[in-house]
Amino acid sequence: MGYAGTKFKTELLSHTPPHDDRIKELSAWCLTFCKSGLAPTYEGGSYGNLSFRTKSGDEAFIITAAKSGLGESNTEDRFVQVWNIDLEKRIVYASGIRNPSSESMLHYSIYKARRDIQAIFHGHCKQISLQAPLIGIPETHKEEPYGTTNLIEQVMKILGDNKIVEMKNHGFLSLGKTMEEAGLLALHCQRACKEHNIILSSLLELRYRCPHWLYEKTSLVLQQAHLFQKHPLHPPLPEEASSFRANQQEPQPPRCQDLL
Ligand SMILES: [Zn+2]
Repeated sequence: MGYAGTKFKTELLSHTPPHDDRIKELSAWCLTFCKSGLAPTYEGGSYGNLSFRTKSGDEAFIITAAKSGLGESNTEDRFVQVWNIDLEKRIVYASGIRNPSSESMLHYSIYKARRDIQAIFHGHCKQISLQAPLIGIPETHKEEPYGTTNLIEQVMKILGDNKIVEMKNHGFLSLGKTMEEAGLLALHCQRACKEHNIILSSLLELRYRCPHWLYEKTSLVLQQAHLFQKHPLHPPLPEEASSFRANQQEPQPPRCQDLL
């Protein structure tokens, strides 16, 4: 999917970059997304955008700038404070040096609909895109171009209380009460999808080499492969994000219902 800039008008209320201690943590997650292959690069930027809500109960948020390389040195000028959005007129009111991410309207709509969510991370991951429907991650019914109202509508149709959803032929959205929750959920799903793919590929290959009774057995296993997600291995907290953990307890694997 090619990137052709933002599809809304930005009104910059001030040209001052946002100052917020939490930008360091957001920046660390941008780096982790890049290193983990969750935000692949294109010429001049990275696919994906990450944000956190600046004040509980308010729709304002800080988000990565449009066309920014998430793996580059993420100084404050790479982030934009979005104050409000007129969805009908497609005007984003913001402060910063650059334009906010092209998916700012989508982030805004989710923050508006989900008061429990404080961080929204969007990435592009082949493994998740391929395996999402197989391991029970909700997926939008129809592909829509990035940054459009149609895409927002498709996401809203399936969002419900889910914390991770896949946008058909596009990428995923992971949500959390904290940035750590949103980030770990994305890493967890990437890992689960990779391992699920290996298991399915091995079983499919085996099916063509085995006697009839074993063929039947593997069919059963394939049908029940979704059970894999109930016993996932939890990925370690990335080094660059670990210093932001509020307490030093070991992370608990997300419960199955948290993933859906
Ligand atoms: Zn995208």
